[in-house]
Amino acid sequence: MKSRNLNDYEEIAGEIVVSQLRQLAANLKGARVVHVNSTRVGGGVAEILDWMLPLMNDLGLNASWEVIDGYDMFFDVTKTFHNGMQGSSVELTQKMIKIYEKNIEKNADRLRPVLEEADFVIIHDPQPAALLDLCPERKGKWVWRCHIDTSRPDRKVWKYIKSKVEGYDGSIFSMKSFARPLPHPQFIVAPSIDPLSPKNCDIDEKEIKKVFSKYGIPNDRPVLTQISRFDMFKDPLGVIKAFKTLTENNFQAELVLAGGGATDDPEGEKVLREVKAAAQENPHIHVLLLPSDAHRTINALQRGSALIIQKSLQEGFGLTVTEGLWKEKPVIGGNVGGIRLQIHNYYTGFLVETPEGAALRIRELLHDPAKLKRMGKVAKQFVRENFLLTRHLREYLTFMLGLGRGLTNYVLAECREHCDENFQ
Ligand code: UDP
Repeated sequence: MKSRNLNDYEEIAGEIVVSQLRQLAANLKGARVVHVNSTRVGGGVAEILDWMLPLMNDLGLNASWEVIDGYDMFFDVTKTFHNGMQGSSVELTQKMIKIYEKNIEKNADRLRPVLEEADFVIIHDPQPAALLDLCPERKGKWVWRCHIDTSRPDRKVWKYIKSKVEGYDGSIFSMKSFARPLPHPQFIVAPSIDPLSPKNCDIDEKEIKKVFSKYGIPNDRPVLTQISRFDMFKDPLGVIKAFKTLTENNFQAELVLAGGGATDDPEGEKVLREVKAAAQENPHIHVLLLPSDAHRTINALQRGSALIIQKSLQEGFGLTVTEGLWKEKPVIGGNVGGIRLQIHNYYTGFLVETPEGAALRIRELLHDPAKLKRMGKVAKQFVRENFLLTRHLREYLTFMLGLGRGLTNYVLAECREHCDENFQ
């Protein structure tokens, strides 16, 4: 596929927005920016880095993306960090810490030359957090970008991660409520989608139909879709329960639960088995295991659905919500974390607490096609104003400029505040 450059976004985001980005970036020309995360494919961080790298380079920065290596036991430990940071009570032993530190040291040996020379290093999530201490000759500013809901972390896990991140020059959270007491400036930046990526670009009806027919999903009933990694925090079993509540009350619909794994997520297979068991013998539930590059397939599934579901129990942001809204689909989402930034009851979808609540809202919307359509239009406009990559990039450039110039005590305006104003 042809790689995109900033000019391609003028039509969607506006010429002024793009020219503002160029002006901001002029002050960062040639800056070496290194992003580090723990997987090249699967999950929201990889999705964001996929578009961010080429656009930063198009703006004249010198951006690169490094991925830490690991093996099963290492990723078991980092998944424990992830779960603990999202509020699960987990066991963290000295042995686990040893496994983590030994492997991160290996990664540091490999990455040190590029990290120590960089002007900005952006470390995504807890997995690579310990790299900072292992790069004592660092020249640039280091920022810890936390994508997960850390509002109520497990105490032991946070104590450990905190010891690894407090030396950073700044941190970024997706929402104000996720920020933790840390001795450096914190920035609030919500994620975003690339409207021109294969995941989100316009595609025609023929392609959508082809995907539905490939997976044997009938098109004579409304289709409800949740796209997610198979992860308990995404509550796929709750979605199945909501669907069963609907259909037991004679509602005719199809449910699609589609997702794949991420190389840094060792729990996916177990969850997938549980989902398949719960869906068994129900011909109207379609559990699809997708390859990591199935972006157009996901696009088609989202576009061909009547409604999108994202009934997470914890969520840093939930890019799949914005993806659905951009396709003019109201979203029924769990009333948690970053989903609250995106779903506003009666405008862009409904926030729900339980499977029964989800079933009720699904029924309400599917019974009122005019409302469904109206909300879909609002949803797309809402994304255009708040969750496109141009806003995201502007905020990254702004904090890099701020850190580079030693401004230490400002926090970017949080999207939520704009949203509240728009929707109250
Ligand atoms: N995704 C994907 N394939 C899958 C499952 C998810 O490409 O099988 C994408 C999804 O469309 C979204 C991202 O991965 O762009 C998931 O981001 P989100 O913030 O929703 O959740 P995360 O996985 O980061 O917790």
